[in-house]
Amino acid sequence: MKATVLGGGFAGLSAALHLALEGYEVVLLERDSLLGGKAQGWQGVPTGPTVLTLPELVRTLYQKANFPMPPLHPVSPLTHYYFADGREFAPTLEINPTLEQLGPAEQMRYVDLLEEAKQLYHGAVDTFLLAPPPTLLNLAQYGLKHGLKAHPFSSLEKLVQSGKYLTPFFLRFATYMGANPYHAPAVLHNIAHVELGLGVWHLQGGFARLVADLRAMLERLGVEIRLNTEVLALEQTNGKISGVKTNTGLERADLYISALDRAFTLELLGRAAPTYPLGVSGFAVLLKLEGDHGLAHKIQFPQDYALEWANISSGTLPRDPTLYLHTDGNTGFLMVNSPPVPAPDKAGYAALLLERLKAWQNLPILEHKILAPQDYARFGARGALYGRAPHGLLGTLRHPWQFAGVGNLWQVGGTVHPGGGVPLSLLSGWNGAGRAMGLGYERLGL
Ligand SMILES: Cc1cc2nc3c(=O)[nH]c(=O)nc-3n(C[C@H](O)[C@H](O)[C@H](O)COP(=O)(O)OP(=O)(O)OC[C@H]3O[C@@H](n4cnc5c(N)ncnc54)[C@H](O)[C@@H]3O)c2cc1C
Repeated sequence: MKATVLGGGFAGLSAALHLALEGYEVVLLERDSLLGGKAQGWQGVPTGPTVLTLPELVRTLYQKANFPMPPLHPVSPLTHYYFADGREFAPTLEINPTLEQLGPAEQMRYVDLLEEAKQLYHGAVDTFLLAPPPTLLNLAQYGLKHGLKAHPFSSLEKLVQSGKYLTPFFLRFATYMGANPYHAPAVLHNIAHVELGLGVWHLQGGFARLVADLRAMLERLGVEIRLNTEVLALEQTNGKISGVKTNTGLERADLYISALDRAFTLELLGRAAPTYPLGVSGFAVLLKLEGDHGLAHKIQFPQDYALEWANISSGTLPRDPTLYLHTDGNTGFLMVNSPPVPAPDKAGYAALLLERLKAWQNLPILEHKILAPQDYARFGARGALYGRAPHGLLGTLRHPWQFAGVGNLWQVGGTVHPGGGVPLSLLSGWNGAGRAMGLGYERLGL
């Protein structure tokens, strides 16, 4: 049996791995000269993901491929937060050192909200994360079992009210799925458990190493990786894909897995563009630094977090945004959330961010490169990092793996079930391909 995989991001790599391990003859088509998609990297500097959660999933993929895994280290503090008035907060997986940094009322709220996040995560996981796309019956069963405990009619903002410092701290986790925290439903509070309860990890060599290792696994299994090969159209005959038209010719297979942004696949099918609202994009400045700056994740909150998100809602880049800084040795990644629209003045906005960075962390920058929403638009519709905005209760439901009327095409990746982020994209690729092969669902160590 032959399979063609479209796109060489994490979802495409994971789908191709599963197909190859099951004995399929696999061809992977990637438009760019590098694999990894959003995690492609620029001369050793990360271009997208930096925070690794749910590491058991990655470990399981290495085991499945019988491939040596690089060392994996827990990151502590998980993230170091800086507030506009100079206060700092550096939570760890250990609760006591975390609580010691908080006042008595904050301590109670922190413990309560951590427990709430854990309950929401455990309630949602079997239906929305570690299972095939839910059916109406699954949703009804979830509603009956968890009902009001999942706060279906409440907003995240209402649920996590916990004072001047902890409110923005808890709100921010919703951005990991592309949400504007002020439009997110309460159930997205479950994401806080993934980081604060399960931890942040670092794979030696970062996500670039994971891309390189997945490529080596595929090559060892005989997968044909075709770089610089852009998919131009999906040809259809009698409700099936009959071929993939690329810039180098026509590719035919028994089954097809698209690991592109779902909106791109719709376009290749000649269908109407989706009308759903898109989630956030990012504006990043990639940094080459002099000297070793260790491994760290840092956040600097603005004076007014609500104003930042009001700006993003209205389609403008905030002048006073939350800064995220990741350093790993002599590289740095500075990022802010952005609306999914082109930045009108890339250089000017990057200069503003670098000024802010200088006042916060004085790093010796040797060289930098800017990635704006118009650059991320190569990977996702209008540069949205996770596809559809998870706003409102139904907005958190991710798209299923198939399109009506196309029998042999499966859609996987960060813009569909179970959702964005590296671990879930890997899971989507693995299980979407598994479903295409008629196999059962696998939780991949989770
Ligand atoms: C700035 C930023 C920060 C992030 N931070 C984190 C984080 O800290 N932790 C985390 O877990 N996740 C993070 N993410 C999200 C994570 O990177 C994504 O969810 C994940 O990488 C998505 O993988 P994917 O395979 O679905 O899509 P992509 O990585 O977008 O892969 C799609 C691939 O398809 C290719 N392609 C597109 N069109 C065509 C075509 N016509 N023909 C052939 N190939 C094509 C693209 O070149 C690309 O290689 C971040 C993302 C960004 C951008």
